[in-house]
Amino acid sequence: MFSVNARRFATAALAAVLALAPARAAFAWGDDIHEMVVRLAVELLPEPLRRELRREMKSLLEGATAPDRRADSRGKCFDPAEAPRHYIDIEMTSADFLAAWKQKLASSGSPEGEALQALKGAFVKEYFSRRTVPLAAAEARALFDALPADKAGFVKLVGESEAGWIGTGPYTVRERYDELVLALAFASEAPGGSGVRARPSRDQWAEAARLAGELSHYAADMHMPLHGTVNYKGQLTGNLIIATKDPDDETRHVHVRYEVMTCRAYLAEIERAVRPRLVPARALPRGTTPERLAIRAARASYPLDAEILLVDKLILPGDSPPRRGDGYVRFMQENLGEATARQVAFAAQAAADLMLSASLEAEGLRGPGAAAAAGSGRAARPATERGDGIELKQ
Ligand SMILES: [Zn+2]
Repeated sequence: MFSVNARRFATAALAAVLALAPARAAFAWGDDIHEMVVRLAVELLPEPLRRELRREMKSLLEGATAPDRRADSRGKCFDPAEAPRHYIDIEMTSADFLAAWKQKLASSGSPEGEALQALKGAFVKEYFSRRTVPLAAAEARALFDALPADKAGFVKLVGESEAGWIGTGPYTVRERYDELVLALAFASEAPGGSGVRARPSRDQWAEAARLAGELSHYAADMHMPLHGTVNYKGQLTGNLIIATKDPDDETRHVHVRYEVMTCRAYLAEIERAVRPRLVPARALPRGTTPERLAIRAARASYPLDAEILLVDKLILPGDSPPRRGDGYVRFMQENLGEATARQVAFAAQAAADLMLSASLEAEGLRGPGAAAAAGSGRAARPATERGDGIELKQ
């Protein structure tokens, strides 16, 4: 069973310890939603970017689901540092939490390794047992707004070991974005010596598509409300948690009951509701960095936590798990379907806007003249921002 005190952390040396102790997985929308997001996002891109990436659909889809494979301790591509890249537990970034933790650490003789992980788990449990989660909207908002502008600033604020505990989701969006810029610069016509242009290979486009898929994944995770909270499986709000050893059991807690079990049952319906909301990709406005966009997405998603937790609790008041055909997924979809469609639409729009911005930056790396060739003239309109994240068609 999952527990807060067995969460993954970013120290590769402790991988062996973790392999023995089931840790927090990087759930985050099921594969189906991640594939939907990247598929829809690519459709919003201008030509020829759209055409080139669509030709590499296999790599796009692979990239969109690979991050969760790396977070799966049972898989052969398991990376123990992966899981925290998918979330940020915003409540743990408060000055009060961090100060209390530092004090706890010092008074416990600064343990290391397994003992440190145990201490972290026990501390989170104890600390949040005395506080109300989800936070009030204004309080959560202030914490998101106070997040540093880049990962270096975040690590400085919370501490190296703590960053891999609290989660670095928004900053992962930036890392993949930067990698995509470089890959696109290589994939698009690469300038050769003395004005000769070398023909880019399909392999380079496949690599760019894979990274675009990964970027889409991490951006989509920031739109999943339960990816921005320490209460990611409803363990602090009394939502039903099933004691099971089966990590594929989709009924085991509200996180997977919502994002996998419910969403999978209504994929076609969700996609139908998402499509009309999307608009052609727009470059990020000047001054909006990829990580800032991701932080705004998580900030705007946070208030939905309370809704998801409440709806789940209303339909599962007792201690028996939902069964096929008992109306659980229907009740969830009836009450949350509209919110889900909105979040998935925001995710696809964000992924598209990020991909377009990355391609415009890649053109900048390749020098003047390239931008016109890549069709950016039509696409470079900046997005109009609303208070929270990006704008969709109304
Ligand atoms: Zn994920």
